[in-house]
Parts: sequence; C-alpha cells; structure tokens
Amino acid sequence: YDEMKIIEGALALTQITIRDVMTPLDDVYMIDINRKLDFETLSEINQSGYSRIPVYEGDRTNISYFLYYKDLTMLDTEKNLTIRQVCEFYNRKAVYDFDDTKLDHILNRFKSGETHMVVVQSAINYADKDPDYVPIGIVTLEDVIEEILQTEIVDE
Ligand code: ADP
Repeated sequence: YDEMKIIEGALALTQITIRDVMTPLDDVYMIDINRKLDFETLSEINQSGYSRIPVYEGDRTNISYFLYYKDLTMLDTEKNLTIRQVCEFYNRKAVYDFDDTKLDHILNRFKSGETHMVVVQSAINYADKDPDYVPIGIVTLEDVIEEILQTEIVDE
C-alpha cells in the first residue's frame, strides 16, 4: 500500500472541511418521523442498506433525530409503533456541525463516541439580522477515513 499517500491524507485533515467530503442532502436517505414502522417502511429501510438514517419532521431540512438500524432489531412489530416513538425511546438526537469544520476536528468528535454521523449545516448571513442555519449534507466516520486513505471504501 502507498504509505506516502496515507501520510499526505492525514496531513491534509487540518485543511479539508466536512463540506468537502459530505454526502449532499439530496442524496441522503431520510425518513419522516410520523411514519408507521409497518412492513413496508421496514423493508424500505432495510433496502436502503444504511445503518444510520436522519429523521425529519415536515421538511427534509428539519432533521431532529438519527434512527439507528440496530434499534429496529428489538422492535415489537405487533405494537405498530411510529418512527417518532422509537426515536424518543432511544433519544438519539440529531448531531450538527458547521460546514467549515475541519476533518481533524470532526475526527476527534467521532472518536469521542458521541456519534459517528453529523448533519453539516451552513450559515445564511443577513445584513440586518442573525444568520439562519440550513443542513446541506451529512458526514460519517467513513467519509473521513476515505480522505485519510485517499481511496473509496466499498461497502460489504
Ligand atoms: P453505513 O454504515 O450505513 O454503510 P457509513 O458510515 O459506512 O454508512 O458511510 C458510507 C457512505 O454512505 C458515506 O459516504 C456516508 O456519507 C454515506 N451515508 C451514510 N448514511 C447515509 C444515508 N442515510 N443516506 C445517504 N448516504 C449515507
């Protein structure tokens, strides 16, 4: 393996931002908080193949929770729960960070065990009032590791 490339990738972590490596919001598989966890929804989540799924309310830019695929394995399908009930039970509130956050910083955050995914938010600045913040994508630990290894990681 090309060790030089890995060293270069590691050094670049202080320059590259999470915006540079994120998956854009339009490409993110998300789910509506009010959906019922019926067979159809469970099949859809399963087919998406993702282990973490942002949960939104009303609008795709209003992300409040992360649903973990593993949280569904203990689900009582008889109870006809909604995504909201599972999210509130596990209380996995969505985690955000700013689009200009550097990769070395986000790597430390991922290492802390708090989360392995963040929603990337961007500021919209106004002359006369405080900025608004809008989500523009997501970043996971895998996106950062790919940057270090300078290569795509193909999912199993
Ligand atoms: P997983 O464990 O679900 O395979 P990873 O954390 O390994 O996810 O990330 C693999 C790639 O998929 C990364 O580029 C990441 O940004 C992207 N990704 C992760 N979750 C989602 C999702 N819910 N929708 C779209 N892309 C996602």
